[in-house]
Amino acid sequence: MKTSLYIVSTPIGNIIDFTMRGVEILNTVDIILCEDTRITNKLLVNNSINKPLVVYNDHNVDIIIPKVIDNILNNNKVYALVSDAGTPLISDPGYKLVNACIKNNIKYTAIPGPCAAINALVLSGLPSDKFLFIGFFNSKKLDEIKDIDNTIIMYESPNRIIGTLEYIKNSDKFKYSNIVVVREMTKIFEEVVRGNAEYLIDHFNKNKPRGEFVILLSQQKETLNNNEEMLNNYLDLINLLVYKISLKDTSIVISKYTKINKNTVYNFIKSLHND
Ligand code: SAM
Repeated sequence: MKTSLYIVSTPIGNIIDFTMRGVEILNTVDIILCEDTRITNKLLVNNSINKPLVVYNDHNVDIIIPKVIDNILNNNKVYALVSDAGTPLISDPGYKLVNACIKNNIKYTAIPGPCAAINALVLSGLPSDKFLFIGFFNSKKLDEIKDIDNTIIMYESPNRIIGTLEYIKNSDKFKYSNIVVVREMTKIFEEVVRGNAEYLIDHFNKNKPRGEFVILLSQQKETLNNNEEMLNNYLDLINLLVYKISLKDTSIVISKYTKINKNTVYNFIKSLHND
């Protein structure tokens, strides 16, 4: 039985992250299903691929799937499915097409490649042995999580990032999480920012959020000891204060600012001076 559907992963920003096999497959299929023809067209032009594009998204999935299945079964056509970025099915309706293939005994396969959730987990430094991906942030989804020992991964947009961090800050379940925000992966302005909700809100109030974001949360004890790493972000301020006011008063100010326990801050500054 020949393969009739290829699920092809594409780059999440850096256009040369496209696999050779992905390019080869797109060059051989009859039709490419995509979310936005303008975005996929850029990818095709960049790789000298010339194939017809058909839009497949949340709005037309019920109309497109029967047509695709009919075209595969009765006209022997071969399709590829791509998303705007990364791995299809991850936060898009691709699984419905895979499901239809299974029901119709159609052979399909996946051409692996980048995925923002996995790339962010790799960059975060948070425990990666047990994680839970919840797609785009939604307060209900977060509140429903029972096993909070998982590293939680969620997608977010630039205009909602501060609101989401505020939600985490005020959540009884997650307010003590160690948070990592990963931005613009594989692109020029790739950034990984770590800290508690308070620190990150302050960071993004000072640096207007731009681009694409993934937020990761961990409640594991080993990551909650990341205070030292966070205090390292305030070294300039600490050094300035400690020469103007006492060590004790500096600890009070920094503790208030970072929400890190006063004694922890005190011991951290003291260790700097011992060095
Ligand atoms: N299918 C994709 C994947 O494999 O990750 C994700 C598609 S989802 C609709 C788009 C979201 O993924 C963005 O809003 C953002 O949260 C995240 N994302 C995609 N590319 C990213 C990047 N380069 N840096 C950070 N986040 C990214």
